[in-house]
Amino acid sequence: MRALYPGSFDPLTLGHLDLIERAARLFDGVVVAVLQNPSKQPAFSLEQRLEQIRTATAHLPGVEVGSFDGLTVDFASRCQAQVILRGLRALSDFEFELQIAHTNKSLAPQVETLFLATAVHHSFLSSSVVKEVARFGGDVRHMVPPGVAEDLCRLFNRASV
Ligand code: ADP
Repeated sequence: MRALYPGSFDPLTLGHLDLIERAARLFDGVVVAVLQNPSKQPAFSLEQRLEQIRTATAHLPGVEVGSFDGLTVDFASRCQAQVILRGLRALSDFEFELQIAHTNKSLAPQVETLFLATAVHHSFLSSSVVKEVARFGGDVRHMVPPGVAEDLCRLFNRASV
């Protein structure tokens, strides 16, 4: 069975990576896909985000990396994924995620949404928090993969880590 893990990944955090590693053990294949959302102005270009994910998941044989725009369920069927994977950090994620899951179910009943609970030690992590810490010169090395930490330093003109 194949799973699609869609997101903005702006940038990829260790929370995302933990989820990808655990999904890779559960599924025959996992497609990590960057959603190109025209209503969001990302800090990192699509190419940078793809490269960050490719580098961080290079050790995981069943993981593919891609991008899409449009409906997630359409992309799921294009990449032959029966499952859409999402992470839940806290109760606050739940309401929005449930709404999206129900919407996707109404559009494509054959596709299941599966939620994985975030690892407790990563539950405070979000792409926005990581950018905020890096912007003010904080150490983000325990929050993101090494390549992403370097990209964040470059983005905010900080000395390299
Ligand atoms: P989106 O804009 O689609 O929410 P994100 O990149 O913020 O994109 O998140 C993509 C997915 O990763 C979502 O399912 C989100 O709940 C999950 N996620 C975000 N942060 C973490 C984390 N720290 N640990 C595990 N999963 C996470």
